[in-house]
Amino acid sequence: MNAQKMTVKIDIEETVDVLVIGGGVAAVCAAIAAGRNGCETALVEMDMCLGGNSGPLLGVHVSGAHSFHPYASETGIIEELELEAARQAAKTITLGHHYNISHQWDLVLEQGLRDAGVRVYRQHQARRALTEGRRVVGVIVEDIQHFRTKLFRVRHGIIDASGDGVVAVDAGASFMRGTESKARFGERSGPEKDSAITMGTSITALVRKASHPVDFVMPPEFAARATAEGPPTKTPGYRPAAWRPDAEFCFIWATESGGQRDTILDDAEIRQEILYQFYRCWDNVKNHSCVEEARNWELAWVSPKSGKRESHRFIGDYVLTQTDVEAARAFPDSIGYGGYFVDVHEPVGLRSKVVCYSNPPLWNFPYRSCYSKDFDNLWLAGRLMSVSHLALGTVRLMRTLGCIGQGVGTAVGLAKQLGCTAREVYEKHIETLQQTLLRQDATILTTANHDPADIARTATVTATSEMRHGVTRVSGGYLPLDVPRGVQLWDWAPELRGAEFAVRNTTTEPQKLRLRLELFERKQLWKDENERIGFKHITGPANRMEWGSDSTAAKFAPVAECEAVVPPGFDGWVTFRFTRPVPMIPADPTSDENRYNLLIEPAPGVELGVDAHAYDFALRLWRSAGEATYSVAGDCHAFRLSPAPRYGEAVNVINGHNRRYSTNPVNAWLSDFDAPLPQSITLEFPEPCDVARVHLTFDTIERCYHEAPINCNERAARRCVADYRVEVRTGAGWEEVVAESDNRQRWRVHRFAARRAEALRLTVLRVHDPRHRARVYEIRAYGPNAAD
Ligand SMILES: Cc1cc2nc3c(=O)[nH]c(=O)nc-3n(C[C@H](O)[C@H](O)[C@H](O)COP(=O)(O)OP(=O)(O)OC[C@H]3O[C@@H](n4cnc5c(N)ncnc54)[C@H](O)[C@@H]3O)c2cc1C
Repeated sequence: MNAQKMTVKIDIEETVDVLVIGGGVAAVCAAIAAGRNGCETALVEMDMCLGGNSGPLLGVHVSGAHSFHPYASETGIIEELELEAARQAAKTITLGHHYNISHQWDLVLEQGLRDAGVRVYRQHQARRALTEGRRVVGVIVEDIQHFRTKLFRVRHGIIDASGDGVVAVDAGASFMRGTESKARFGERSGPEKDSAITMGTSITALVRKASHPVDFVMPPEFAARATAEGPPTKTPGYRPAAWRPDAEFCFIWATESGGQRDTILDDAEIRQEILYQFYRCWDNVKNHSCVEEARNWELAWVSPKSGKRESHRFIGDYVLTQTDVEAARAFPDSIGYGGYFVDVHEPVGLRSKVVCYSNPPLWNFPYRSCYSKDFDNLWLAGRLMSVSHLALGTVRLMRTLGCIGQGVGTAVGLAKQLGCTAREVYEKHIETLQQTLLRQDATILTTANHDPADIARTATVTATSEMRHGVTRVSGGYLPLDVPRGVQLWDWAPELRGAEFAVRNTTTEPQKLRLRLELFERKQLWKDENERIGFKHITGPANRMEWGSDSTAAKFAPVAECEAVVPPGFDGWVTFRFTRPVPMIPADPTSDENRYNLLIEPAPGVELGVDAHAYDFALRLWRSAGEATYSVAGDCHAFRLSPAPRYGEAVNVINGHNRRYSTNPVNAWLSDFDAPLPQSITLEFPEPCDVARVHLTFDTIERCYHEAPINCNERAARRCVADYRVEVRTGAGWEEVVAESDNRQRWRVHRFAARRAEALRLTVLRVHDPRHRARVYEIRAYGPNAAD
């Protein structure tokens, strides 16, 4: 609506810098980021509860890149919220999907918003946009609880994170809807023709095993139709996904519908249809297919809200496509990433049907897909962003949307500070945006910390102890070299000249050993559906979601080999040396397929030393006779590479990267396993400088989503530093400026009165799991006037 022509009667007016529409995960992260970056921000949510689909009205599990890629969890605000939820035990743990209807998650989100100064309005439905030329200047909102109409005037801009984007449509922003044909974006899985088909809508439900038999009676409003249609198919396997009779409590989403209709206007009819499908499905379980197994099971809860997967997608300066995500396209304006499979649901189904188009590598998300091309100040967050129908399959996961939402909120803050439009942030300030995000704990796959204000980058770093690559030793006995044995490398230096292994020759003859280096051959960056077959899990509890690594022996190509002779009765380190240094491929953070195998061929009477510890940089590997695939175990052999790759050296805390990936699994300072805590790391500055703020990044990144504390009912990440202190050395000696206990967060910022510091020291006193040692990804230091 043109602001000049407004005719609606307004009961209350408020003015804010930024209005965020919606209270889902994307909206919450965007609002917190905008608040932290200097915007007076309000958030309006039409429901009673925050969290959108993850909130207590639907209970969907928050997942993302770490469901399919090792060590890939999105960092930043979404990680803070999830860690805080773990601390407060703010989610219910149900079988299979870890879905959650605990109201405490809503409170965690609310607290995060309040701490960032965001005003939260529940039961406020945003209805109309007021525009002046290319600007949105206000939004009319219905306060449903008090029957009042409010006008939020916006000084700076709005973030539409409402899923449906009713306000953005009202403003006149261009959008897409349905399924784009192959011709439209050149996507390999696109259909021949455009269509209006979207993904279906689903409800969720909780079922539990009671102590007594429970009847299920089909609700009368659905019974007549069910009778008319006849008995449901009596197939034993026909039952809702995630219902397991041997469990106690299951969260299920059984059916879906509505993708062939208007998912906004026909919402009520779609819900009726899904309810019918759902009750019919449960009726089938209880009264037809699984009568005995389901005798004591009762339907405890059906979600009051229908979960919508897709409606409008607004057009930005760039539309992200399936091709982009599968190629992990490197955008100059990347502000976030994801890596879930391209999970596109069918529009309708008596059993929800997920079509998996591929498992893409970790992909980048461009800032240009986060604002409407038609407006100077209309930003987009969540599933309504500028992405194709197929790309939405992987973008729509909530951890991913949270991480991108933080990028959007930060861009909004920057635009306010610099007095520029949404597009100008891309055109003129993209590096500032990316560096701000990295400073605030986001991950951008394509860039590192170049922040000139970070004094730590100039320091010389030392530690009381360091774990180094050469850490492995024989602590788990020996295994006979009766089959090819060795290690699978997840980290390496730019070149490999040779390697050493701990070997025993139990014979009275010299034995010649042959060492082989081979590399996994990547056909393409993404894995297709067929490549799921035969995938194995490596370590940790069985992970239904993670595809693991393909260890088919035929897929590894030989790179180099060399020999060494082991004298009779020898017991020690054997050195292998290649005739010339082997150039190794650069580690690619987007891929978890880049792996080298280092294998020794079988030799009679020779044994290879085993290290019982688990290291992130290598796995024990062997190939049993007659097997087409390699086997891997979580422990290791005693081995060393020459030259040694960087491992736990102290200097890693200023190498510009604040996390690990599968192919750069230890990008942190690690204190030595054998050196008990406390352990310290010291940054000596080249000359005294004013320090008033320190950023510390600890390790909360687990290998897979099942291991994240929130999903395994733990209150803290195991490797996270719990107790620590920070001191600065001035001319008067060391002075403590921070003393912290029971920390559970990955990213901590400490502010204190500025000191003229010659050096800074972090002392780690305790880690949550005492089996781990000090582990710190990044340390930054700033003067009193540096930007937050
Ligand atoms: C059944 C189901 C299962 C799923 N499973 C998973 C899963 O396991 N893991 C995962 O990560 N993702 C899952 N997803 C996908 C994920 O839930 C969605 O992609 C995601 O929630 C979209 O986030 P969003 O913030 O854009 O929208 P939403 O989460 O839908 O949040 C939008 C919010 O905006 C509010 N709103 C809408 N219009 C207005 C308005 N006009 N004014 C004020 N407020 C408004 C809504 O009430 C809502 O709270 C699932 C989705 C469904 C439906």
